[in-house]
Amino acid sequence: MPNVKEISNDVVNVLKDKIKVIKTDESSIYLVGPIRLPVNLNGNTVIFQWYSWLNSDEYTEDINQIISNLSSSNLAEYQQSSVLVYGDFKETEESLIRMHSICHTGDIFGSKRCDCGFQLKQSMQMIVNNGAGALFYLANHEGRGIGLFSKAMAYILQENGSDTVEANEKLGFVDDSRNYGDAIEVLKVLRSKPVTLITNNPKKVKALKDAGLAVAGRTPLWGDVSEYNEKYLHTKINRSGHMEEEGTFQND
Ligand SMILES: [Zn+2]
Repeated sequence: MPNVKEISNDVVNVLKDKIKVIKTDESSIYLVGPIRLPVNLNGNTVIFQWYSWLNSDEYTEDINQIISNLSSSNLAEYQQSSVLVYGDFKETEESLIRMHSICHTGDIFGSKRCDCGFQLKQSMQMIVNNGAGALFYLANHEGRGIGLFSKAMAYILQENGSDTVEANEKLGFVDDSRNYGDAIEVLKVLRSKPVTLITNNPKKVKALKDAGLAVAGRTPLWGDVSEYNEKYLHTKINRSGHMEEEGTFQND
């Protein structure tokens, strides 16, 4: 064991009830939260409960050791995932969830080449309107799991005639390498009752069902269609099996 720094008892006492160690098949997940997070959502202040989690190769329940490893773990070099929880997520009968893949260009810059930024804000609003739910923000899902730098290259290929799927495949990636395993483990801690998934993607429904979760249903989320992302959205439907709802494309 590398020299474990001594963390003060005060710090451990404050954090110990907020850290949950989830044992998984291969390793463990450290879940920290809830943390009160007031959010500006479409001009209204909404209070969410926020959690973040960290995948670990080791399994330990020693909070002192978990904390003391942080400063040498270089965590800013690779992002962690998190979840925004709203309302009585654990107990409410009808609960919406969204498994949102990180999109640096869409979520942060508001890029119109995809519909991610719209889907992020709209799913948060749907969860609030529903009264309870959770939005999982999955940090290792950039560009369907190819990473931001590769996504930049894929965008260049798309500007030269490839569709989203072809571009990823030409760079040597499978079309969709996203894994929902750790998010599902975290979800199981937060809620055991059935959930309704906000998605247009049947693979997400299948991934959750395969992991043994009770999925009550699916609710679609289309919008912000423009000349900039119409081809991208058509590729999702024609090549990636997303389900088109009536009225998705005003021009169809
Ligand atoms: Zn996007």
